[in-house]
Amino acid sequence: MLRPNAFAKVAGPAAILLAVGWTIWLWPAHFLWVYPASGALFLWFSWSGEREVKYIFLFLVTAAGFILPKLSPEGGSLFLMAGAIAEVLCLWLLFYALSRFESSRAAARYRLAEEEGQAAERVRGLEDELARYRLHLDSTLARIRDKGALSAAMHDMGSASAPDEVKARLETLLRKYFPGAAVELRSGAPRDFADHWVAERKIPLLVRNSDADTRFSRGQFAAGERSFMALPLYLFGNLVGFVRASAPEPDRFKAEDLRGAELACTLAGVSMENIYLYEKVRELAIKDGLTGLYTHRAFQGRVEEEILRAARSKVPFSVIMADIDHFKSYNDNFGHQAGDTVLKAVAEVFSRGVRDIDFACRYGGEEFALVITGAGRQQAAAVAEGLRAALEARAFNFGGRPSRVTASFGVAEFPADGAAASQLVRASDERLYRAKEGGRNKVVAQ
Ligand code: GH3
Ligand code: MG
Ligand code: MG
Repeated sequence: MLRPNAFAKVAGPAAILLAVGWTIWLWPAHFLWVYPASGALFLWFSWSGEREVKYIFLFLVTAAGFILPKLSPEGGSLFLMAGAIAEVLCLWLLFYALSRFESSRAAARYRLAEEEGQAAERVRGLEDELARYRLHLDSTLARIRDKGALSAAMHDMGSASAPDEVKARLETLLRKYFPGAAVELRSGAPRDFADHWVAERKIPLLVRNSDADTRFSRGQFAAGERSFMALPLYLFGNLVGFVRASAPEPDRFKAEDLRGAELACTLAGVSMENIYLYEKVRELAIKDGLTGLYTHRAFQGRVEEEILRAARSKVPFSVIMADIDHFKSYNDNFGHQAGDTVLKAVAEVFSRGVRDIDFACRYGGEEFALVITGAGRQQAAAVAEGLRAALEARAFNFGGRPSRVTASFGVAEFPADGAAASQLVRASDERLYRAKEGGRNKVVAQ
């Protein structure tokens, strides 16, 4: 069925055509008016966009231009023929001009539509780019957040003061990053196939799905371990333990997770190394490398502490200074090595001869200093006498010759012999000098 608009488009020109035909039928002498009327109709068709009807009409009018002059009452005079042909030509010209105008308008419309299409395409492209940028921004922000949290956790691990604390923090970190997963830290030798795999290859192991992993047989996996990560823990380049994070579901861990966990394990190892190195440096600063006794520097600190404690508690303490007799001769006669052996033996006698709460140090060269806590001069002199006797009793052998080593001792008490560390040292040193003067291998406490 024709729609009302289409019906009007067909019915309108048909009615006009009928009206023109009827008029010519009534007044055939005025047929030349057909052409101006047709021109007006062309304008109307152009405006309403009826191209096809216009072609049909042009054909009909052209035909009429040849037929109507012959049918008119004047009967096809030359003048009428020429007039009709001129008017038909004018109509063709008008038709041509209108067609040109329409096609240029259509071209402009087409160009506009094309530009509109291109603009829409550009907008779509920009929208896509914006969406991609937003996605990138989101993932970058997520990565920054992750890195921030990781760096805080790493900092936390790096600030631990004991190796066990580092291990506990590593466990906490991994539990936080893999919620619901079982995390375990194992020290010592490899215990299962995964530890062996890691130990042999020195790289971490990621099992995404134990059912589909062709590297291992199904029977090797523990029940409830469908996916896991196994990582090595290194200390100074040595494999000292293993870290395991496992989950009962497959694909719980990704390659990215393995990298993060590996980084955490490396940092845990470095943190532990730092703690050991720090302890080592601290020990080197306060312990003598040859004898293993405390150093002169540690002695100063200890005496200051004792002074504070004794001043508070009103319980005295004593300082013993000791010097090996004729030590130079051991060096001269048996070599420096023998001298060192004597120093170590004396240090052993001294550290064994005092209580754990007392303090023994190598004061410098072949001189030693001891702090006897809670002891007055007489008590400390008894301790010194015990040390002297123990050293004298010890048998040495240099170059196949049996020999003896002795030392001289000076004792001073806080606060009776001095209220400051330097006074106590001076006092005990003076008495030591007197012990040497008095024939060596002696204790002087007065
Ligand atoms: P005195 O009975 O008067 O104390 O005599 P001495 O020979 O023990 O005293 P002196 O101060 O003359 O000699 C100390 C020597 O100790 C000098 C030095 O070569 C030696 N000495 C100092 N430190 C060391 C060390 O670390 N190893 C060795 N082997 N010898 C050392
Ligand atoms: Mg000396
Ligand atoms: Mg000496």
